[in-house]
Amino acid sequence: MQEGRVLPPYRIKVIEPISILSLDERRDRLQEAGYNMFHLRSKDVYVDLLTDSGTGGMSQDQWSAIMRGDESYAGSRSYERFREAVDEIFGFEYVLPTHQGRAAENVLFSTVVKPGHIVPNNMHFDTTRANILANGGEPVNLVIDEAFDPSNLHPFKGNMDPEKLRCLIAEVGANRIPVVLMTITNNSGGGQPVSLANLREISAIARENGLPFFIDACRFAENAYFIREREPGYADKSPAAIVREIFELADGMTMSAKKDGLVNIGGILAMNDVETYEMTRTRLILMEGFPTYGGLAGRDLEAIAVGLREALDPLYLADRVGQVRYLGEGLKSIGVPVIEPIGGHAVYIDARALVPSIPQSEFPALSVANELYLAEGVRGVEIGSVMFAHESDDGTVQYPKMELVRLAIPRRMYMREHFDVVIDAAKSVAAKCDSLPGYRLIEGSGPLRHFVARFMPLHRA
Ligand SMILES: *Cc1c(COP(=O)(O)O)cnc(C)c1O
Repeated sequence: MQEGRVLPPYRIKVIEPISILSLDERRDRLQEAGYNMFHLRSKDVYVDLLTDSGTGGMSQDQWSAIMRGDESYAGSRSYERFREAVDEIFGFEYVLPTHQGRAAENVLFSTVVKPGHIVPNNMHFDTTRANILANGGEPVNLVIDEAFDPSNLHPFKGNMDPEKLRCLIAEVGANRIPVVLMTITNNSGGGQPVSLANLREISAIARENGLPFFIDACRFAENAYFIREREPGYADKSPAAIVREIFELADGMTMSAKKDGLVNIGGILAMNDVETYEMTRTRLILMEGFPTYGGLAGRDLEAIAVGLREALDPLYLADRVGQVRYLGEGLKSIGVPVIEPIGGHAVYIDARALVPSIPQSEFPALSVANELYLAEGVRGVEIGSVMFAHESDDGTVQYPKMELVRLAIPRRMYMREHFDVVIDAAKSVAAKCDSLPGYRLIEGSGPLRHFVARFMPLHRA
């Protein structure tokens, strides 16, 4: 076998059929969907890159473990196996299962965040931000400036700027900051990793000021893989050892197991402080369920216990990050502009650079996303003006800096042939970038309009 070649450490045992529609059928489906990927039915999609959340393939060991699920209300054996895995990997005193990541956030923030509080993070994910706001807090992003430059090749673009954190603490006072967060990898910033050096520095600043330091751990294994690859001194350490080193710096964590838990549903809240634990446990019973199942079935806990360990397999991680890189490099090689460096779970096409002729008022990234579907049945998601443009107080429309199409890669689901189809789709979109239509919004408003909006193509002369 070729030295250094990245290969999938698995083969296929169960298959899920997917359909290949004709161009005419795709045209009809897209029109019926109001030119919005969220209205398409999955049966009309060939390669579905809408999200990497809960969309991965489970292993035979996970499916076997599911049969072992103990559905007892209290003190189930499944909880014990879940606890063993979480303890071994992360090492916190107290652990609560939740049904998703946002439930862990809700339970934690409804306990510790009060009106007037400020919550710093490298970059808040949407649900994190929304849960802080819902409890009267103010989410603040303190990621390094390099994160906002799509061509800057900084190896750890997810890092928090320690100076920004120090200034914030000096400005508002530590007593208004209930917790310092760090999201690994930085999802909203393109799946970019955080270095151990940065985690150490931010953790030290939090401790100096008596502030708890929590990690949003959704992609903890992918982050560890990047540390091993890019941070001096870690090349010979296992992802599991790196993860241990990361979490020793923290006082707790929230996590969506739908990412690096390699499951379709589940979440985790963990911490060391007994008082916070007792308060969050009460909230959990109210909002999720008894503390040994927390909104999940026993079988779900079993699948998480196996998935968390599988996610740390270096061969799995090399394949995982390798797939994302394969797609990113493939797009680059045909001249399609993407955000760099290529992150851990998704590739982002820079639609403004690809179709400069479409003004932001006519949704260039939506146009590229729709053409990818028309070309080969590929479903990505618009992250641009549909999602973020809004009217300011004086009535003028504020447009976001970037117009992106995110292609998120589900874990253990697709093969190279599928990514080659995506690259072909992008090639045909790029070939007609001068004639792509802009779009007009005909239905949908407000900050969540991207989920429900409908559009009309504007045919150009
Ligand atoms: C997905 C995600 C969440 C929320 O998790 P859900 O399981 O979707 O509720 C929180 N933070 C980050 C960084 C995420 O990627």
